Amino acid sequence: MKLRVRLALMTSAALAFVLSLGGIGVDQLFARSLLREVDVSLQSVGELVATSLTRRQLTMQQAFEERWFESMGISPLDKVVRLLDRNGRVDLRGGRLQLDLPTSEKSLRAAERGRASLETIRVTGSPIRVLTVPIFFRNRLRHLVQIGSPLSDVERSVKTLRIVLLLAFPIALGGSALGAWWLAGRALAPVDEVTRAARKLTARSLHLRLPPISTKDEVGRLVDTFNEMIDRLESSFQMTRRFSADASHELRTPLTILRGEIELALRGKRTEKEYRTVLESCLEEVEQLTEIVSDLLFLSHSDRPGIETHSIDLNELAADLVAALSPLAKAKNLSLKLHLQSPEPVLTTGNPGQLGRMLRNLVENAIYYTPEGWVEVTVMKPKNEVVLQVSDSGVGIPLEHQARVFSRFYRVDYARSRAPGSSGLGLSIAQQVAEAHGGRILLESEVGRGSTFRVFLPSDSASDAQ
Ligand code: ADP
Repeated sequence: MKLRVRLALMTSAALAFVLSLGGIGVDQLFARSLLREVDVSLQSVGELVATSLTRRQLTMQQAFEERWFESMGISPLDKVVRLLDRNGRVDLRGGRLQLDLPTSEKSLRAAERGRASLETIRVTGSPIRVLTVPIFFRNRLRHLVQIGSPLSDVERSVKTLRIVLLLAFPIALGGSALGAWWLAGRALAPVDEVTRAARKLTARSLHLRLPPISTKDEVGRLVDTFNEMIDRLESSFQMTRRFSADASHELRTPLTILRGEIELALRGKRTEKEYRTVLESCLEEVEQLTEIVSDLLFLSHSDRPGIETHSIDLNELAADLVAALSPLAKAKNLSLKLHLQSPEPVLTTGNPGQLGRMLRNLVENAIYYTPEGWVEVTVMKPKNEVVLQVSDSGVGIPLEHQARVFSRFYRVDYARSRAPGSSGLGLSIAQQVAEAHGGRILLESEVGRGSTFRVFLPSDSASDAQ
């Protein structure tokens, strides 16, 4: 069932419930208040008759004459007035309404106990409200005065109210159902629009956006969220597209060189030395290709969820790497220094393979882009974080390139010869690993003076957690 229909039905059902309860309540209150009015008027007449008789201001006969009623401002027209003896037998009648009312046991018993009682008696037609008042002389019950008033007016008024309520009920219900239907339609129209737009969405139409809604209600937020989602989708599609184009380009260059060299070698007869030279050059290109492909694989694997992680001592990681890369630095006459600020283990949670690869990329770059001087790896432990720092006294990175060196395949100077086996993915890998570990990389560099890469990672030590 459509949400719009459901909303209209639910609103009507809720309203029907509230109206029914309200209707019953109003009906009861109205009937009761009318009855109370009748009771009050009966009680005032009853009291008047009873006190007049008890104080002997009137004789019995006088008390039941119309004139007396009229002199008291009471209309005898619609009243039954009777004087009964203590056993309930009628002695005298007054009032214009001549009805033979039964006297109930209950009212007799109440009178014996000195209490007036009120009851509703139905003889024929409409019911009659009857007040029975005991009259005592010298502490003995002598008479009962009964005053009755028919409830036909009350019944008529209650009936009219019920008709009005019953007519108003379906009108209010129908009106509210229509209103709810209309409102739900208006409120849900943008949801329909979102659905239609989402259906139209393909990789080719990611530039489409929903027209934003000015109201900041749930639907407005849905539209905004939907548009933000398409923004993210679009940029991730563009990134993937650019990445595939860059990757193909990077792979094509060594392949073209390979092909050229092989074709040249095959064109005529070559000496063994010439073949060897060609093969060596081919091997270099194959190494380059292998490097690119394995870096691409590493990138696609490293942000996969569910990578195995455990506590790692960065002091140990840095020391191992510096030991492994020392020969490379020595070959370039560079000093490769290790500076551990804390003798205690500097712990973070992560994947040792990935963190090792990140640090290796940074140190290899530093060694490669430093013609002379030093490269230093520092492990620091500021509050709540751990930091791996790789500084060099190398060529530096111009400011305008600093933000982009972390992009895939981005190289600062294409004319500058590449690091051996470089894929242009080293810093992207380092950044992706840092981010996958909940960290970040910051770069400071000055052309001609050197560069410093700082990797901030969450600390794993118990003292920080406190
Ligand atoms: P590559 O494989 O070319 O080294 P990277 O992603 O590792 O790719 O680095 C991207 C570019 O950033 C490099 O081409 C280089 O120009 C620059 N770069 C990286 N590290 C340094 C450094 N320590 N000093 C100077 N330039 C650097």
